[in-house]
Amino acid sequence: MAADYYEILGVTRDAAPEDIKRAYRRLARQYHPDVNGHPDSEETFKRISEAYAILADPQKRRQYDQYGRVGEVVFPGGMSDIWELFQSAFGGNPFGSPFTSRRGANVEVSVSLELQDVLQGAERQVSYSRVALCPHCSGQGVEPGTGLHTCPTCHGQGQFRQTVNTFLGAMTSVQECPACGGAGQVPDQVCSQCRGQGAVRQREARTIQIPPGFAHGDELVLRGAGDQPPGADAGDLILRLSVKKHPRFSRRGRDLEMTQEISYLQAILGDTLTVPTLTGEAEVPLPPGSQPGDRLTLPDEGLPERGGGHRGQLILTLEVRLPEKLTEGEQDLLEQLARASGLELRPPAKGLFERLRESLGG
Ligand SMILES: [Zn+2]
Ligand SMILES: [Zn+2]
Repeated sequence: MAADYYEILGVTRDAAPEDIKRAYRRLARQYHPDVNGHPDSEETFKRISEAYAILADPQKRRQYDQYGRVGEVVFPGGMSDIWELFQSAFGGNPFGSPFTSRRGANVEVSVSLELQDVLQGAERQVSYSRVALCPHCSGQGVEPGTGLHTCPTCHGQGQFRQTVNTFLGAMTSVQECPACGGAGQVPDQVCSQCRGQGAVRQREARTIQIPPGFAHGDELVLRGAGDQPPGADAGDLILRLSVKKHPRFSRRGRDLEMTQEISYLQAILGDTLTVPTLTGEAEVPLPPGSQPGDRLTLPDEGLPERGGGHRGQLILTLEVRLPEKLTEGEQDLLEQLARASGLELRPPAKGLFERLRESLGG
């Protein structure tokens, strides 16, 4: 191994054991593959662990200083040896908070809402399943009225120290006692409701206030309303909001859009339209000479911004409907109008017209 172990750990050749340990801790935290997402982090982590394994051992360090190498450096147990080394450098608690704090899981609930709810906000009842502290034992796992005794597995130590001999020398690892979870004591009688788990799964109902102006896909987070395992922080309740499609209005940010059909006579002559809004109806002037595709806007008939406030507008896009059939009276009037406009029309013969329509798929 040609690598310079001092260089790898970023310490000088006369670094004290404490400095070497401190440097390793810092780098190991940074490059631990569980924390560092980089694909090379495992290789780097192995390299710094190897450097530490040599330099932390006085005998190996002397040998390395003298000969520039220490036989063959291998971790016979692979990553588990490195992990032990890592744990021993930290005295069993490599990360502390926040990496090892056993936080409860988040619970996700979807909430389906109408477009109208965006306007005013909404109140909803949500019911969901979560892990909660056992109410019978208050999360202690001990049957009420009974006591605790010293854990027979770890004899009250709460942890195991294990010394393993490897090619790198003796390595000590510290493990939490699985029988008492590190507490050193176990119940005389485990709780009859949660079987000593301290937690139960239960249904919970909550009334949720949803503020106006939300969008499809928004999330509301209720801190601490998710899973609550004993001795840890609770996860969150995450409400995923979905807004149902409205039959008439489509949404573009704060604005609402809809297509408004009008007759050709309304387009030509102008009119006052009565149009639906999210809350009722509104009157909107249609100017004479309006064209297909023209847009009319109704201010303040759109949606509010998040949390409420100024509303956007309602935008109508005009679609002009032309009659397919005319009554005889209309036919006469329109022919008169055409003549008055100086149009010399040559309507196709009936048979020809219908054949043309068919060929166009009309
Ligand atoms: Zn219980
Ligand atoms: Zn124990």
